[in-house]
Amino acid sequence: NYSLKQLQQIDAAHHLHPFTDHKELREIGSRIITRADGPFIYDSEGTEILDGMAGLWCVNVGYGRNELADAAYRQMKELPYYNSFFKCSTPTPVLLSRRLAEIAPKGVSQVFYGSSGSEANDTALRLVRHYWALMGKPEKNRIISRKNAYHGSTVAGTSLGGMDAMHKQLGGAVPNIVHVMMPYAYELALPGESDHDFGLRAAKAVEDAIVEAGQENVAAFIGEPIMGAGGVKIPPASYWPEVQRICRKYDVLLMLDEVITGYGRTGEWFAADYYGIQPDTITTAKALTSGYQPLSALLVGERVAATLVEKGGEFYHGYTYSGHPVACAVALANLDIIAREGLVERVKTDTGPYFAKALQERIAGHDLVGEVRSVGLMGAIEIVKDKATKERFLPAGSAAVTVRDHAIANNMMLRATGDTMILSPPLIWTRDTIDMACERIAKALDLAKNDLRK
Ligand code: PLP
Repeated sequence: NYSLKQLQQIDAAHHLHPFTDHKELREIGSRIITRADGPFIYDSEGTEILDGMAGLWCVNVGYGRNELADAAYRQMKELPYYNSFFKCSTPTPVLLSRRLAEIAPKGVSQVFYGSSGSEANDTALRLVRHYWALMGKPEKNRIISRKNAYHGSTVAGTSLGGMDAMHKQLGGAVPNIVHVMMPYAYELALPGESDHDFGLRAAKAVEDAIVEAGQENVAAFIGEPIMGAGGVKIPPASYWPEVQRICRKYDVLLMLDEVITGYGRTGEWFAADYYGIQPDTITTAKALTSGYQPLSALLVGERVAATLVEKGGEFYHGYTYSGHPVACAVALANLDIIAREGLVERVKTDTGPYFAKALQERIAGHDLVGEVRSVGLMGAIEIVKDKATKERFLPAGSAAVTVRDHAIANNMMLRATGDTMILSPPLIWTRDTIDMACERIAKALDLAKNDLRK
């Protein structure tokens, strides 16, 4: 048994963390999370923390699900690993693929597996380019994405994404990817512009990019239905149907990145259904296993899938762990839990609306809050210095970190990204859990206000 101090020392000496300033980490020392149950995580000192982020947008069924551990254990004993190269398969990816085709938006018929959302987006990028090459149009390979998008941390994921800080460290992105404006009305709508009109204008940026490149050069448009890491940016209702119309008009494939929104977060199994659109590819990961195993699934629509079969020829792409039998067994058990407990429906009809109302009634009025917004159990709180002018505190992002630190000290885990606080809790949250979260967040805001206005 190691003490907290010992673990922190070893951590600082040997463990490089994702998205972390290691100089800072060494000064502060890691918080060590040792166990979790239901909606709570516990650190090494026994502190019980309400997890407002479902880990990292993934633990949708909550912690401590023995059923998932049992599914993994059974599969490991039976067959811990075999690949799906060599025209082989194992039963669990086969059955999971059918299951996913059943719950996926209309038109999805095939599934390609990886271990992470980043890998799935790499696959998606290569697949749409492969598709157009099979169609005899290899020059139709440009991808349109959006500024501030997050599509993962591999070279392709970073290139598809639109995060400036990540691009600066890349030293050369995957070529032929361009980024257009994001549909973020709070900061980008013009004075007096309606949400509806702003959504159409943001969609028009996609059309402009297609026209500028020439449609014969554009393979696809990719977007998160609701930007997640970029700050839970919820587009106006007019945006996605218009983007879909534009993609169809110019024969450009529509790729959705549902790594966060997939498997119930919006109150539908997929956000494509929430927005009523039929994409050609859907990237999913995270909540597919509720984070109990690393697994991603790229859902492929009929148009691309049928072409692969009709035209034939090998797609030179795949991972050792594509269709990992244990991860797929856990995914099947996880989807069973979500369906059996009616979690998606509950978000849609009960907890999602209650969450929206609670944020409006108890958080939106706070002096530090410029806007709250949510869809299902995915929400954001904008931190501002001045509610009326939307002026932010300087340096950028510092105020949100102050709020986050007070929240964590107050046993509430939430995330700060830029000047935005993010909430993405497990779908097992009840009205009582939402009440508890709002109380803790309101307290954190009060404490932060004292610090910031000093
Ligand atoms: N796409 C989106 C929308 C994400 O939010 C993430 C991760 O947060 C990814 C892709 C990358 O997934 P992973 O971290 O599993 O590689």
